[in-house]
Amino acid sequence: MNAYVSEVMQGVKRRSEGEPLFLQAVQEVLESVTPVIEKHKKYQEASILERIVEPERQIIFRVPWQDDKGKMHVNRGMRVQFNSAIGPYKGGLRFHPSVNLGTIKFLGFEQIFKNSLTGLMMGGGKGGSDFDPKGKSDSEVMRFCQSFMTELCKHIDADTDVPAGDIGVGGREIGYMFGQYKRIRNTFHGVLTGKGLLYGGSLARTEATGYGTVYLCDEMLKDRKTSFEGKTVVISGSGNVAIYAVEKATQLGAKVVSLSDSNGYIYDKDGIDLKLVQRLKEIERKRISEYVKERKSAVYTEGCAGIWNIKCDIALPCATQNELDGKAAETLVKNGCIAVAEGANMPSTPEAVEVFIKAKIAYAPGKASNAGGVATSGLEMSQNSQRLAWTFEEVDQKLHQIMINIHSSAKQAAEEYGTPGNLVNGANIAGFVKVADAMLSHGLI
Ligand code: NDP
Repeated sequence: MNAYVSEVMQGVKRRSEGEPLFLQAVQEVLESVTPVIEKHKKYQEASILERIVEPERQIIFRVPWQDDKGKMHVNRGMRVQFNSAIGPYKGGLRFHPSVNLGTIKFLGFEQIFKNSLTGLMMGGGKGGSDFDPKGKSDSEVMRFCQSFMTELCKHIDADTDVPAGDIGVGGREIGYMFGQYKRIRNTFHGVLTGKGLLYGGSLARTEATGYGTVYLCDEMLKDRKTSFEGKTVVISGSGNVAIYAVEKATQLGAKVVSLSDSNGYIYDKDGIDLKLVQRLKEIERKRISEYVKERKSAVYTEGCAGIWNIKCDIALPCATQNELDGKAAETLVKNGCIAVAEGANMPSTPEAVEVFIKAKIAYAPGKASNAGGVATSGLEMSQNSQRLAWTFEEVDQKLHQIMINIHSSAKQAAEEYGTPGNLVNGANIAGFVKVADAMLSHGLI
């Protein structure tokens, strides 16, 4: 690593001890943008790297709430407003017991470059809580969301910071938080995205991340003169992203044979029955193991890591960070996998990424391939500002075009800086340059 870049990385390590996910994300971006820093001295002269790795603002707050039995609980809420050089902070809220400041910083940092890649005016941010919605009643989730928003509403606004969903935050949670924001601020505007259609949500936002991941993967396949038609696909997770990746991959002629959750995975040799998964997960909020009780062609295996042993042509990791390690990547490649596109954020470990790049299979990092979610959130913001609602087809068409553009700008940047075909470098560089140049225009802030 170049001496200046390495010094910046050491500084981040010193200040972010105990935040391994954040360090992992920063290390990858800094390695990718090194050729840009070496070629254009203006970034070093203006200390762009030192500034871009430091959040503009971090808000941490107490979230007290009462369960159905009247017992009081306290969770920790947070919002990291990372970078607003090219637009209001934008990024989801994650509710999961594993959430800590390091998780939110890693996600917020990734979001800066992802949002830049979409070509829309959105800065990077992320938030969440260590609250676990699993096993809670609707009333408990509502009380938590109201308490969370009672504090968060002091720091966000349609032109300042616009959160959305992420793990553990879907339509129900966004609805409760939007209601509380409106009640406290006495204003009805698009302060959250992923809203219900009755109160300012966008058609195709629910589908956007999963669809976008498949659209981007399709572009990589086209480059290799092939397509989803007739391919066997393995998808991890069984939440929002995974479900709509199944739908789009199936529409394009592929057979998706597996899904998972944090307890285990299902394998269905006849192809996943999407309607059944949607009922189990979106309506009944059950575990993925329930699928095999209703579908004789499927088997369930305890433990989610084994999913990567299933032979497939295409793998779409859509669950969580670091769910696919070096050994799993080697197994995928050995079994003939030709493409990996990440629906989740940073699901492949650095060792896994190295395996994919060395094997020269088509590989898209999450900040490129899952950017369709935030891009459609950007489209939701545009519709809200105009007080208009576009049709599903209009939004889907715009989403598709954005994914095509992301693929082409990442591919172009990878070529320009000497690593053709490496979309990790390409996505990081293309995302970085735009934000860095905007920061230069703003002076030292
Ligand atoms: P959901 O909460 O809807 O679903 C998450 C899924 O991942 C669940 O099946 C969950 O299983 C599984 N999962 C979570 N943690 C683990 C784990 N440690 N090991 C194995 N499986 C796990 O979340 P989303 O589908 O919205 O998000 C999935 C990923 O996509 C995340 O990385 C998120 O950051 C990313 N993403 C989401 C976007 C969106 O628009 N929703 C946009 C861009 C990225 P279980 O029920 O057992 O926890």
